[in-house]
Amino acid sequence: MTMDLKFLKGVGEKRAEAFEKIGVMHVEDFLRFIPRTYLKRISVRECPAYIEENVVVTGEVIDISYPKKETQPLGIALRDNTGAVEIPMFGGSEFRSRQFRLGEKYSFWIKIDKDRQVSGLKISYRDHLKLTDDESEKKYQRFRYIPVYELSGVLKKTWIKPLLLSKIVYNAFTAVLKSNPSALDETVPESIIAKLRLPSRKDAVLRINFPAVSEDIETARRRLAFDELFYLEIALALKKMSLKLEKKGISFDKDVTGLHDKFISNLPFELTRAQRRAMSEILDDMRSDKCMNRLLQGDVGSGKTVVAVHAMLTAIGNGYQAAFMCPTEILAGQHFASLTKMLEPVGITVRLLIGGQKKKERTQILEEIKNGAVDIIVGTHALIQESVEFSSLGFVVIDEQHKFGVMQRAKLKEKGLNPDVLVMTATPIPRTLSLTFYGDLDVSVIDELPANRKKIKTALRHEKDKPSIYKFLREEISKGRQAYIVYPLIEESEKMDLKSAEQHYRILKSEVFPDLRVGMIHGRSDPEEKEKVTDEFRNGKINILVSTTVIEVGVDIPNATIMIVEDAQRFGLSQLHQLRGRVGRGAEQSYCILIASAFDDISQRRLGILCSTNDGFRIAEEDMEIRGPGDFFGIRQSGVLNFSCTDLTLDKDLLETARDEAFSIVEEDPQLRDPRHSMIRSAFENEKSGSLYFMAIA
Ligand code: ADP
Ligand code: MG
Repeated sequence: MTMDLKFLKGVGEKRAEAFEKIGVMHVEDFLRFIPRTYLKRISVRECPAYIEENVVVTGEVIDISYPKKETQPLGIALRDNTGAVEIPMFGGSEFRSRQFRLGEKYSFWIKIDKDRQVSGLKISYRDHLKLTDDESEKKYQRFRYIPVYELSGVLKKTWIKPLLLSKIVYNAFTAVLKSNPSALDETVPESIIAKLRLPSRKDAVLRINFPAVSEDIETARRRLAFDELFYLEIALALKKMSLKLEKKGISFDKDVTGLHDKFISNLPFELTRAQRRAMSEILDDMRSDKCMNRLLQGDVGSGKTVVAVHAMLTAIGNGYQAAFMCPTEILAGQHFASLTKMLEPVGITVRLLIGGQKKKERTQILEEIKNGAVDIIVGTHALIQESVEFSSLGFVVIDEQHKFGVMQRAKLKEKGLNPDVLVMTATPIPRTLSLTFYGDLDVSVIDELPANRKKIKTALRHEKDKPSIYKFLREEISKGRQAYIVYPLIEESEKMDLKSAEQHYRILKSEVFPDLRVGMIHGRSDPEEKEKVTDEFRNGKINILVSTTVIEVGVDIPNATIMIVEDAQRFGLSQLHQLRGRVGRGAEQSYCILIASAFDDISQRRLGILCSTNDGFRIAEEDMEIRGPGDFFGIRQSGVLNFSCTDLTLDKDLLETARDEAFSIVEEDPQLRDPRHSMIRSAFENEKSGSLYFMAIA
């Protein structure tokens, strides 16, 4: 049973409307509020001990002094049983004074600073609230800390002020717990609560809103963070389980060692140990009849492609086809070329399917896919979306997974297939995030670069250094090297940025390097143009390639040794690391020059990390520490990690525990039938877990 908002003390019709606009429909919804901060309640005498702090004082208004000039404040004299203080209030003393009555009691939120006044204190008014005259007020006054909630959106513009809001939340707690004492029942199995010595949920929810001592806040927050993480991991565990149970996968159990050996012996290099390990982990998964969903993580240039090819050969040797999905057509084209080169000697047929191919060519390729003449089909994700019919698709590789939105598994299932899936990403994800974001996948990591790689020299430079940068560039080009110059392109202002890239391109071409060949490529170039320019760059016909971030992923042109990034402070660190990965692919020394036009402390620190290390995992960890996990390559927009209490940078230990506990519950009881797990089941049926449920089925 839910309670109507407008009947809650302190709310009423008008305010109820304002709350409804921010999604607070029922009184119960207030129980989910989490304070942004707290105000300590102090006595007037204690004020000098709270310099530079926000506090609440409560007492009787004993005097109101009117200003002589409009620019001066109205003075409210407030007295409690320890002393009196004058609180100045600016802005419209007529209106202000009407809010107070002599002899009545009020709470004031004030900020205290040092001042040269007689008292030595400068008091700034923030908010006030008239005390009511009842039992609940007395109880409320006993709390040492007053919660302050985010007043976002419509609430900011209404007359629901912070002190009033905390009182309303308090009233909501009182009302709900009175009518429904089980409203804050436990959500995590008792055995886990006991093992981890966590407070009960009811205690935690009450304490985070109305802490008795300041330590309560952190204890309660961690308990509630555990809830969030536990349910997230339960959702991931269920998702992983359902993928495995739902339908049997293919067991690729025919021995194809011969094919593998032939492929490996044809490679012009030795595999790294990390590559071999990943290959064998994948092979084990593929042999079993469970459906594989594995993430292959490896830094830029760590050689994920050959690992994927090795896995595709397992499928092909077992009589199936494999699809290789890429986020862009450039990448698809490039992978097609390198796969063809690697696999033709082994007798494998590779085809490319992208938009813009001639109708006749396309029809033929589609036919070959359908009749099984093609072993590997490379393309963009249109591969599985369009009316492509496979004769026997058994394996799917998804390159640069983070570039795709939600995985396309559902689509695959619609086609009545249940292939094993390998997703690859070069964006190293901090372990904490991979446990959450990719928590339903098994993970293989390539944590080693091929031995022949030289460290890319990275430097941070200012706009004004451009002449010397261009001079350096010219010298390298005269030695036969090639360079990328990248301009930021941020979605919201795509047009404007594009203009700036185009403008720079024209200047570079006609004024700075009139004697060199400068090309340009961007997200809006049509596919033929893109291909043409990329090919010209690959063949050395273009010396300098000006680009937006479309070249970010995967482009492999070993002779390009210089990467210049303009306005580097506008990129995420991991994105810059990706861009840097476009160079350092050949035997020559490579360079990455980050040009920043604005140098605040944070960008200096961030970009400094890039200069000091080439280790993508370290960069990702640091990026997460600085920017917070929410901003980490746009995960916030995906809505998956919108925690209210969890802070992944603080709660790594909780996350790991939550994961262990959640996964062992789901492994033991996948349907959550055990009575001890009924609370988990009902939490999923509850609308509150809507987003988690979405994750579980997505
Ligand atoms: P990424 O992991 O970034 O996708 P790629 O698979 O594109 O990396 O590999 C980058 C380059 O390194 C390719 O040119 C590839 O042929 C080469 N390569 C892959 N494995 C090795 C290795 N073990 N030793 C030397 N070069 C390798
Ligand atoms: Mg790659």
